[in-house]
Amino acid sequence: MLFPVCCKSCKRVFRDKYPRYRNLLADGVTKNDALTQLGMPAEPQYMCCRTHFLTHVEDQSDQHHQVQLARQRLTRIRIQKYQVLQQEEQARRRLAEQPSAPVAETPTIVAQPTLATANPAQPALFQ
Ligand SMILES: [Zn+2]
Repeated sequence: MLFPVCCKSCKRVFRDKYPRYRNLLADGVTKNDALTQLGMPAEPQYMCCRTHFLTHVEDQSDQHHQVQLARQRLTRIRIQKYQVLQQEEQARRRLAEQPSAPVAETPTIVAQPTLATANPAQPALFQ
């Protein structure tokens, strides 16, 4: 059976916490500590929600659901990649269609003042 989206008693949504809960358990954290870390400490107002985590039994449908979610994520990523590639292609076409801008002339190099010509009011030291 799939893990529920929300608590049947208090309607608090916690489906998004389940993957983190599983990861914490896989890391060796106890169920109590994992639920406390996820914001559901062992207090009366969270007991209804904790029950869902503590009594859930994973089966094939859970794994199937995870695989489906992963496929949907992958499809979304592929669509985003395709859109980015299309935008790049459109930008490249727009650049190719634009008449080329006149090439700016290279700036002429102005003679740098030397010690002798830096300040004509003062006598040059090295001549
Ligand atoms: Zn609850």
